[in-house]
Amino acid sequence: MNTPLATARPSAAQNTQRYDAVIIGAGIGGLYQLYRLREAGLKVLAIDAGSGVGGTWYWNRYPGARVDSPSHVYQYWFSEELNNAWNWSERFPAQPETERYLNFVADRFALRKDIQFSTRVLACDFDETQERWQITTDKGITLNAKYLISCAGTLSTPLKNLFVGEKSFKGEVYHTARWPKEPVDFTGKRVGVVGTGATGIQVVQTIAPQVNALTVFQRTAPYTIPMRNQRYTDADRAALKARFHEIKALARNSFVGFDFDFTYGAFYDATPEARRAILEMLWNDGSLALWAGSYGELFVDEGVNNEVSAFVREKMAARIKDPALIKKLVPTDYGFGTRRVPLDTGYLETFLRPNVEIVDIKAAPIERIVENGVQTADGKIHEQDALILATGFDASTGALTQIDIRGRDQQLLRDEWAHDLRTTLGLMVHKFPNLFLTAAPLSPGAALCNAPTCLQHQVEWITDCIDFLEKNQRAVIEPTLAQQDRWVAHHDEMAATSLVAKTRSWYTGANVDGKPKRLLAYAGGVNVYREHCDAVAAQGYAEFRIN
Ligand code: NAP
Repeated sequence: MNTPLATARPSAAQNTQRYDAVIIGAGIGGLYQLYRLREAGLKVLAIDAGSGVGGTWYWNRYPGARVDSPSHVYQYWFSEELNNAWNWSERFPAQPETERYLNFVADRFALRKDIQFSTRVLACDFDETQERWQITTDKGITLNAKYLISCAGTLSTPLKNLFVGEKSFKGEVYHTARWPKEPVDFTGKRVGVVGTGATGIQVVQTIAPQVNALTVFQRTAPYTIPMRNQRYTDADRAALKARFHEIKALARNSFVGFDFDFTYGAFYDATPEARRAILEMLWNDGSLALWAGSYGELFVDEGVNNEVSAFVREKMAARIKDPALIKKLVPTDYGFGTRRVPLDTGYLETFLRPNVEIVDIKAAPIERIVENGVQTADGKIHEQDALILATGFDASTGALTQIDIRGRDQQLLRDEWAHDLRTTLGLMVHKFPNLFLTAAPLSPGAALCNAPTCLQHQVEWITDCIDFLEKNQRAVIEPTLAQQDRWVAHHDEMAATSLVAKTRSWYTGANVDGKPKRLLAYAGGVNVYREHCDAVAAQGYAEFRIN
């Protein structure tokens, strides 16, 4: 687990500023939450540790960083005018363009004046007498707010210090999610990349032609689909803009928040030839549609999963041809789609280059980092000049467990979540009144969703709830224990049907030692989740305790 940032408490000497709402984070969710609450007439402040807006797209500036949701769904839906004013250059934009888009949004809606940058939240205490949150930052300012909203991100706390001896390494060590703002030149260097998830493969395929030698340390081979990127013409953009309302409705009502869904009927109702034709068509689309828009049974039926996995393996093997490499790069020990499926651009072919080597760290794990490289359990030292750690994140909970968040009875959220990951609708937690969460455990946005779709939905739910409380002059909302128990039980029931929950990955918290194991994301679908949330609001939040 992560070490808490601090145990600092507000002191009388600190300057206290009073707000209606404080938002942690100025990424996709935080910017939109700030906009909506300000529109609702509240005095709001967003705080971000970065020096600029963007969240994920501020921090993840590693070589090759690129979004693999198409730009027409990886964006805001709240303003058609905004949609018309912004022109995406391609189907899958690179990090700088997505960061520029979020800066454009911040400028267009004058959000920056209500964001405090380069500031970290250290502690949040619910004062039961005042029924307000006290928020302590590392800049000596204490904030007092009725509502506290976390938009701190699901993939925002990098897993670091995983390897003994890292400090002894004489070269540079980079974590992909803490990449320097200035470009790093690897020309002529021997570079090691640890990790072959969605991040690692983007780094590998991008830097391989620049470096002298590249060593890829792989523990689990990913299934990967070739990304079919496309530069947009004015006509392409106009066609997508004309479909703004249609695409928005599709994304909000689909299983994972894209403009595609499981629309091909039941897998076994079709002939093998017809099924193959659908899979071929989706493979050629070069998007995540093969995964999240083919057959829903892929996630719950081992027979279907085996067949689709065999199809993807065949496609991957055809790209590499070399039997020895196929053995290393094509996964056989888990099913397609049960871990995050990345899109790649020549990743598999990279291993055909003479300067690229793959090291199997499942067979011989990394034992330690030594001054000249990486030592594996077979005693070998893989000499490197620089190391890139693409080792992932303490997903969904890490950003909050590193802050001292104390609710009723001084209960620490970190302690609650140290033994069991429980929330109500992924939006609130029993004993933490007026604390709203986005992308938190037990909601689809924790992992199984196109992030902007779920973030916007949750921000809208939170805004409506706060609006309800303000209009009814209420001080506090909090889920009851019984209500939370029901949501956890429903979540677990959905998870029990899913093959994702049975596979080792960050989706289940298995990548973090000591993290309680539970499928992080609600597996019932974005559309079904929305119905649950809508029903709660329509009933006037009757299940919650409201004072
Ligand atoms: P990740 O999927 O968790 O992958 C981390 C990699 O590091 C895995 O290969 C993992 O191996 C390896 N690793 C972790 N700890 C290790 C250890 N102690 N020893 C050896 N290997 C270790 O992280 P990620 O690639 O940063 O991706 C996280 C998520 O970010 C993605 O799933 C995706 O949702 C999002 N993302 C999106 C995009 C995009 O839109 N294009 C790009 C990048 C990331 P194991 O698999 O064996 O654990």
